[in-house]
Amino acid sequence: MVEIKKQHTKVNFTNVNIKVEYIVEHDTGVLGQTAKNNADYFEKTNRGASANYFVDKTSIYEVVPPGKKAWHVGDDRDDSDDGINNGNTIGIELCAEKDGTFHPNTLANAAWLTQKLMKDYNVPAKKVVRHYDASGKNCPQRMNTDGKWTLWYKYHKQLTGATSVSVPLPSNNTKESQHTVKSGDTLWGLSKQYNATVADLKKWNNLKSDIIVVGTKLNLGNNVKVPTANPTPVASTPKATKSIQQLVNETKAGKHGNGDARKKSLGSNYDAVMKVINGGSKPAAKPVTNKKRVYLPKSAKTWRVYKTSGPYTTGKEVGFLAPAQYGGLNYEIIKALATDVYEIKTSAFGNVAIYAAKSTGATIK
Ligand SMILES: [Zn+2]
Repeated sequence: MVEIKKQHTKVNFTNVNIKVEYIVEHDTGVLGQTAKNNADYFEKTNRGASANYFVDKTSIYEVVPPGKKAWHVGDDRDDSDDGINNGNTIGIELCAEKDGTFHPNTLANAAWLTQKLMKDYNVPAKKVVRHYDASGKNCPQRMNTDGKWTLWYKYHKQLTGATSVSVPLPSNNTKESQHTVKSGDTLWGLSKQYNATVADLKKWNNLKSDIIVVGTKLNLGNNVKVPTANPTPVASTPKATKSIQQLVNETKAGKHGNGDARKKSLGSNYDAVMKVINGGSKPAAKPVTNKKRVYLPKSAKTWRVYKTSGPYTTGKEVGFLAPAQYGGLNYEIIKALATDVYEIKTSAFGNVAIYAAKSTGATIK
């Protein structure tokens, strides 16, 4: 995984401790730059702006320590509005390529960083938002090249396994949403002024040519209707897993009947349960030898992980892994915790439990 390089700005932040509630994602708006370019740009000279992190396809730079106030949603000046502002957020800027797209590795690095920060600051998925959600600015612009934020929804879903929540635009921040054409305005000039492309402006306003008429109100792309994102299909929904000891107790209490009825009721656990009942020994989770690994297929968008102490049930996740985003994932198995439940070590969530029965598509080898 990419290392976070620290090159803290001396001037472009407010040296106060903030309570982090949101993570805000941006693009730098300038094409073909690196995270290092940005770290250098913001280091010593007062720019009146900044962000906590800059991410490109090979590196992550921390420019303002998380938990200190960076200046990235400054167009929402009011820090006391209980909304999304510099005083309660971590800002992540993604660097776009020269061709105006985000490199897949830039998206992967940003997703990894975001997941780490979500964990570190206990930020839920619905509070990972766009600059657009904070202030109405068309940012991260390169995730909105189709005017429908398709890439943002894709990114957000992969990132969290949860539904993106659209935060209503504060009414005092609609100033950027329209421009009334004045004499001398050109699409090219407006595209620079509003950090959009000529093609975007034409698309948003249904313009057939580059000619604009004085007095026309131009849509600047911020009023795009936000489609409701579909819930992420989750690859596996583990069922609550009972331990052998629980089944033993139930069997002793008569819950699983006798003879064939018991065999049917306990299914594949029958032998293990009967061994305990007949032998009187307490079952220990089998130690896994030879450093076996669990492989999560790339067809799985998300994979639930749980506290190692359990419970291993839906709704009690401590996080989600994103196998699809990395072309599949695999982890060394530290130990077996219960039937088909293993302890693994993840970079984003630390040591966690994972449910990896054969039926989930996971393989152990
Ligand atoms: Zn932004």
